[in-house]
Amino acid sequence: MKKRIDTLIKKWSITLAHRNGQEGMAVRGKPTAAQVAELRQLKPEIMAELKRREAEKEAARAEFLAELEEKKQAYLATADLRRCLACITDEFYNRTWTIETLDFTEQDGGTVAYQPDFRLSDCQGVLKHETSALKAVAGEKGFAYGMAGVAWVITPEQEAQLLAEQAKAVEAAEKEAAEQEKARVEKEAAKEKARQEKFEEAQRTGEPVLLERTSGPCDGSVVECSLDIICRYAMPDGTTKTERHHAH
Ligand SMILES: [Zn+2]
Repeated sequence: MKKRIDTLIKKWSITLAHRNGQEGMAVRGKPTAAQVAELRQLKPEIMAELKRREAEKEAARAEFLAELEEKKQAYLATADLRRCLACITDEFYNRTWTIETLDFTEQDGGTVAYQPDFRLSDCQGVLKHETSALKAVAGEKGFAYGMAGVAWVITPEQEAQLLAEQAKAVEAAEKEAAEQEKARVEKEAAKEKARQEKFEEAQRTGEPVLLERTSGPCDGSVVECSLDIICRYAMPDGTTKTERHHAH
């Protein structure tokens, strides 16, 4: 009987399914009327087997997680974890600063810091600004951190100061960016206004008004000319006209 149930589950890739709050089974493929009848008849046994398998999988998973947790606790009990300011330098000499807890290990006669095992990293993001508190900590001798980094052990007071200064620096940078954007928008508006006034002047006087005068390499239409002066005019009818003068 068990063998027949296993065969049917495999043959029709049967899985547990829920529809409209009802528990049932999903069958793949197109069974004949006779096959449907057999599946219906054996439904309780098939469902029981599928549930048994699910429970077995869940138990294995729970066991795996319990073992992992046990190993993690054993690691935490013996690991030399210290709060650090860490800096990684990449091949382009870009530095990435973080505050995180690192695992210190004796290695080749020295002490090296590494990311903690079991993905226990508590890094909350990077410190983008090299503030005075950061420079003060980094001015001291640090420990090797992995292959290309340095780590400095910090006190809770130092961490608080590093974070406070970082927050201030972020705020100042955002303020500056907002001011620059405001100045850019204002400059753009003033430029557009001046352009508009030139078109109004052209319309009022019936004469072209110079919008801009630029220079560039010759377009090649004149022999032995290397520099062209390009003048753009606002015309009385609201269009623009470009004149090219060959300066030779
Ligand atoms: Zn030219």
